[in-house]
Amino acid sequence: MNQLSDSFGRQITYLRLSVTDRCDFRCVYCMAEDMTFVPRKDVLCFEELSLVARAFVELGVEKIRLTGGEPLVRKDIVHAVEKIAAIEGLRELCLSTNASKLRRYAPELKRAGVQRINVSLDSLQPERFKQLTRTGDVATVIDGIDAAIEAGFKGLKINAVVLRGRNDDEILDLVDFARQRAIDISFIEEMPLGTIVEHDRALAFMPSDDIRAIIESRYPLTASDHHTGGPSRYFSMADSLSRVGFISPHSNNFCGACNRVRVTAEGKLLLCLGNEDALDLRAIVRGEGDTLPALKAAIIGAMSSKPEKHHFDLDAPVDIVRFMNATGG
Ligand code: SAM
Ligand code: SF4
Repeated sequence: MNQLSDSFGRQITYLRLSVTDRCDFRCVYCMAEDMTFVPRKDVLCFEELSLVARAFVELGVEKIRLTGGEPLVRKDIVHAVEKIAAIEGLRELCLSTNASKLRRYAPELKRAGVQRINVSLDSLQPERFKQLTRTGDVATVIDGIDAAIEAGFKGLKINAVVLRGRNDDEILDLVDFARQRAIDISFIEEMPLGTIVEHDRALAFMPSDDIRAIIESRYPLTASDHHTGGPSRYFSMADSLSRVGFISPHSNNFCGACNRVRVTAEGKLLLCLGNEDALDLRAIVRGEGDTLPALKAAIIGAMSSKPEKHHFDLDAPVDIVRFMNATGG
C-alpha cells in the first residue's frame, strides 16, 4: 500500500534519484561554466543509494529514474543499477543521460535492469551542439542513442530544451531525427534553476505552443492519451510511431498531478523542483545500526511539507539557487 500522500491528496509513486552532480557536459541552461561539485565523500555510495531506493519502494514508489548530473560518469553505476533493479516491488527503473557514454554502457545497463532511457539532445549541428553543451560532441551522442536502440531499449525518448534564437530553428530537424528512429521526443521549456550569465532565460523563453505550431506546419498533431507518469503532454502524428511531448512548466503548470520527489546525490530529499526545502536523508542513512525504519519514518513525515506548486518567474531574480545538475533533473 502506498504510504506517501501529501497535504493536497497527491500520491508519490515516482522517485528521481540523482547518483552524481558531476557531468562531462556543461549545458548552458543547466550549469555555469565553472562549477564546484559536491566532495565525493558527501555523495551517497551505492549501498546508501540502494537503501534510500528500498525505503521509497517499501513506502509505495513504483518507478525510479536514475539521473544527475550525468549518471554514466559514475564508475560504479552498473553495480548501483543492479542493486536497485533487484528491489522487490519496483516496477520500472529508468535512466536519464546525455548519451556520451551510452555506446559503452547500453548493453550492460540493459543486462543490469534499466528498462527505459531518456536522452537529452538539443541540436544536431556539431558546432551548435558544442556551444550549447560547452564540451559535447554530437556524433558521439547520436552513436550512443543508436547503441541504446541496438541494445534493445524500447520506449527511448529524446528530451530537447528549446531556447529562442539558439536552437528553435532545429525543432523540425529534431522531430525528423526521432521519426527516423521511431522514438518519442519531448520539448522542454527552460526552468530558472541557478544563476546563469550565458543567456537571459526570459529572452530565450520559447513557449510550448510556439513549438507546437512549428511542428504542425509539417506534421499535424493529435492529442494522445499516452502517459509515462511524467509531466509531458503527448501528441501523435498520423504517419509515424513517434510521439511528440511537451513539458511546459511555465505555460501549462503540471503541479496538480505531481507524483514525484527527488533525492540529490548527497542524499537531500527535495519535495519540489521549485522550492529549496530539503530533508537530509544522508544523516539518517549514515546513522548506527539498521537505519531503514528511521529513513522510512522521516520520508513519510516529510510528505506534509510538499508544496502545492512551483512559482517559477523568468522575469524575477532567481530564487532557486541550486542548478538542475544538483537537483536530479
Ligand atoms: N545528464 C542527463 C541528461 O542531460 O539527460 C541527466 C540530468 S539532466 C539535469 C536532466 C534533464 O534536465 C535534461 O533533459 C536537461 O535538458 C534538463 N535540464 C537541465 N537544466 C534545465 C533547465 N534549466 N530547464 C529545463 N530543463 C533543464
Ligand atoms: Fe550535464 Fe545533463 Fe546538465 Fe547537460 S543537462 S550539463 S548533460 S547534467
